[in-house]
Amino acid sequence: MNDCPHVEELPQPAPEPLSDTCPECLAAGTHPVQLRICLVCGHVGCCDSSPGRHGTAHFTDTGHPVMRSFEPGESWRWCFVDGSIV
Ligand SMILES: [Zn+2]
Ligand SMILES: [Zn+2]
Ligand SMILES: [Zn+2]
Repeated sequence: MNDCPHVEELPQPAPEPLSDTCPECLAAGTHPVQLRICLVCGHVGCCDSSPGRHGTAHFTDTGHPVMRSFEPGESWRWCFVDGSIV
């Protein structure tokens, strides 16, 4: 079931990625495990298995609710507000 209201509010078409890796990791010298892209603004951040968890930090900072996997071949989306795949 997909009853996430946040997906409906995402910009169309989806934003272009702002970078090709996590810029916070690049600045801090840490390595992202996997990458996620914010579907509101195109911010690229790392996953919760990465040291910096910058994807989650981006949601905390901005309130942008939905991200998509930025890994090749993966297209699932995650809503931070609902805490589920959408
Ligand atoms: Zn949602
Ligand atoms: Zn990061
Ligand atoms: Zn964003």
